[in-house]
Amino acid sequence: MTHFSPEQSPSSKHFSFAEGSASSKHSSSAEGSASSVRPMNNPASFVSMWSDLAEVGRSPASGGYRRFALTPEDGQLREWFTQEADRRGLDLTVDRAGNMWAWLGNPDSDGPGIATGSHLDSVPEGGAFDGPLGVVSAFAALDLLSLQGVTLSRPIGVACFVDEEGARFGVACSGSRVLTGALDPDRARALTDSDGMSYADAMAWAGRAPHLLGADPEALKRVDTFVELHVEQGRGLIDLKAPVGVASEIWPHGRWRFAFTGRADHAGTTAMSDRADPMLTYAMTVLAANKQARGHGARATFGRVSVVPNGTNAIPSQVTAWLDARAEAPDTLDALLAEVSRQATERAERDGTSLEVTVESSTGLVSFDLPLRHRLAAVLGGAPVLPTGAGHDAGVLSAAGIRTAMLFVRNPTGISHSPDEHAELGDCAAGVRALAEVLRELAT
Ligand SMILES: [Zn+2]
Repeated sequence: MTHFSPEQSPSSKHFSFAEGSASSKHSSSAEGSASSVRPMNNPASFVSMWSDLAEVGRSPASGGYRRFALTPEDGQLREWFTQEADRRGLDLTVDRAGNMWAWLGNPDSDGPGIATGSHLDSVPEGGAFDGPLGVVSAFAALDLLSLQGVTLSRPIGVACFVDEEGARFGVACSGSRVLTGALDPDRARALTDSDGMSYADAMAWAGRAPHLLGADPEALKRVDTFVELHVEQGRGLIDLKAPVGVASEIWPHGRWRFAFTGRADHAGTTAMSDRADPMLTYAMTVLAANKQARGHGARATFGRVSVVPNGTNAIPSQVTAWLDARAEAPDTLDALLAEVSRQATERAERDGTSLEVTVESSTGLVSFDLPLRHRLAAVLGGAPVLPTGAGHDAGVLSAAGIRTAMLFVRNPTGISHSPDEHAELGDCAAGVRALAEVLRELAT
């Protein structure tokens, strides 16, 4: 239980952590009791939470994670989040998009608060850090503030967004997009996974009411400022020799579905000159995208492809592939897409195939709040400020007009969306300390 008693301090509203809210479970695993632990260096609750999550959705063979929205693994992760909220006496709410919020203090009665957090879902064969680092660090930062005996004047919320990666239903950040109204709930309900199951049916399977899915201005109104901590998905902080950085902006990015249609036929009896092979058109399109991205200083990736009938001895009738593309400026991204589409269409004509390009999601340049990022960089002792090509829920909230910032934690290889994704414990602890500093700055 948290104490929030504006009556007792009418000039400035204060509340503090409940005694022991740093969790005796976690303190007991520290080197000594809470009183003997140097609070700013106490990673105990982080390590404990991290190990609780380590096996959920992990492939023993590869070490990679499959934590898709609205699956048993997702249910386990949401249960874990609920328990961590309960353990700290936080008030748990679930918004109409299914995102979870654990509040210390009451943002409805005591003004909008400072929210932090990230997501717990993963890409196929993803790493342990992308998402969970932000959620675990959020709880650990609260524990640190509690150990420090900090008195807050604003509520703090820990958020866990649904389906950030879009690994199952194809649309990234669907939880935050539905929440903010950027994704129409009818469109979200109709999304299907690779087995043909709709988002709506998957919601029902998970015990959630599909008809309630929708934008939730009430939930958004509780958030004055959102800060997302995330593992860096690149090598920027290595070169800067800094464990923690502040995000400047997120590159414009999007996902496009390329549907190539040809004519199914026999791989042995059909002469090469008689084929209408969509795989060929697709292959050329991959090369074109790669070349265009290099030429534009952008990024283009075909990482997912579906082939019909997908037989070794059959010329395909249909190849569907998804292009993920990103660039520093919107014009560059537009030019890249236009050129790849033009070349693919030309090639389809030569191959006797056809092509349809459909945008699945598109996000413009996100520039995080400038005064806020300067303030946070200063609070963190001049932490470096750097851009990213990766999309995040923070970008969606920022685009919806919420004052938003991001912190990045160094990734020693830069590898992400892979079982090899990593961050050193010392850097994770630095991230927790930085996040706690930021929350203290914003919420006291
Ligand atoms: Zn992420």
